[in-house]
Amino acid sequence: MPSRAQRPRIPEVSEAQRRARLAWNGGKVGKTRPAAAMTPFEVCTADGCGSPATTGQPPTPGMVKVIGSKDGAPAHWFCPGRCTVLARTRAELRAVPRRPGGGR
Ligand SMILES: [Zn+2]
Repeated sequence: MPSRAQRPRIPEVSEAQRRARLAWNGGKVGKTRPAAAMTPFEVCTADGCGSPATTGQPPTPGMVKVIGSKDGAPAHWFCPGRCTVLARTRAELRAVPRRPGGGR
């Protein structure tokens, strides 16, 4: 699983870079602590989370109906909180118009 620690880093080769780093981090020197081992994505285990909203009733009480993006994606039920926020964000990003070349 990739982690933040595997991101390539540009080496610090000049005195100006060193001064900029010290200005940014408040003059701290020494080695940084290792990056936390974080999973970039955790799978939700809530029953019915992410199921298509084919009826007006949520699969589990309290679930939030998130409409699809403007390109016609169907609505889905998500558990409140993190899953709802992720789904709404994904729908908003998908609604961003594409560039003529096909990119976003
Ligand atoms: Zn969920």
